[in-house]
Amino acid sequence: MSDSYCSNCGKTCEHREIIKQKKSPYGKSRKEQFKAFLSGFFSGAMVGGALASLELIDRYVQCTNCGHKTLDNKGEEFQ
Ligand SMILES: [Zn+2]
Repeated sequence: MSDSYCSNCGKTCEHREIIKQKKSPYGKSRKEQFKAFLSGFFSGAMVGGALASLELIDRYVQCTNCGHKTLDNKGEEFQ
C-alpha cells in the first residue's frame, strides 16, 4: 500500500501494487527466476540484475478508492 495521486479521483489515494508476469517463451523455468526476482525486489535489492528482470513483468498500481489502474512501469494510464 502506498499513497499516490490518482488522476481519476483527482486527489491522493491509497494504492496497491499489482505485478503481472509477462508471457515469455521460457515457460515454467521463468517462474523460478521471477520468484527470485521478487524476493530480491521486496528485500530492497534494486541492483542491475533486478532492473533487467523488470522487463519480464508489468507493474500496476490500483487506486483502492475507485479501482483505477495505472500501468506503472511505463508511466501510462491503463484502463
Ligand atoms: Zn482513484
